Amino acid sequence: MNLAALLRHSPGADDDVSAEGALEPDEDVLQALALRLDGPIEWSLQVINAGGDDDFVVTGDAHGTAMLECRRCLIDVSTDVHTSLVYAMRYRPGDATEVQLVDDEAGEDVLEFAQPLVDFAPLLAQVFAIEQPLTVLCREDCRGLSIDGVNLNDHPDHVADERVQEKASPFEKLKDIDL
Ligand SMILES: [Zn+2]
Repeated sequence: MNLAALLRHSPGADDDVSAEGALEPDEDVLQALALRLDGPIEWSLQVINAGGDDDFVVTGDAHGTAMLECRRCLIDVSTDVHTSLVYAMRYRPGDATEVQLVDDEAGEDVLEFAQPLVDFAPLLAQVFAIEQPLTVLCREDCRGLSIDGVNLNDHPDHVADERVQEKASPFEKLKDIDL
């Protein structure tokens, strides 16, 4: 995103710059964020001059489809994710091309950019990943997996096995906790 028009402190300078696009993060970025996507992240951003020479505000939103495992039966579930962002921004000339999230003097989040051509992609991917729901269900009444790994939505005849197991060991999950 090119913010050069905002940085000219002349009467003709623009007060805001907008951009939109579709983001398809690299595989290593997706892995680092534990993010799986079904299609690109559609985003739009607007940066406005906040009054000072080097102070700005960025607002925007991003939406896309994440793939998450159903917490009961583990099949992939397409999950729509919408997020919006608002950050104070400031210009601190330097070498970095990516926008950096830092604490300002008051301990508030502020995005710093060092060059007029700003790469918002890492920030957008991160904000999107954080917005994902922690868990999803493939459907409200998902039956989950039986103890032997059978999908009970497809094979409801296995329900009896699961019930026996649940009664026998209500604290099954605690087995894995290392005390
Ligand atoms: Zn499920």
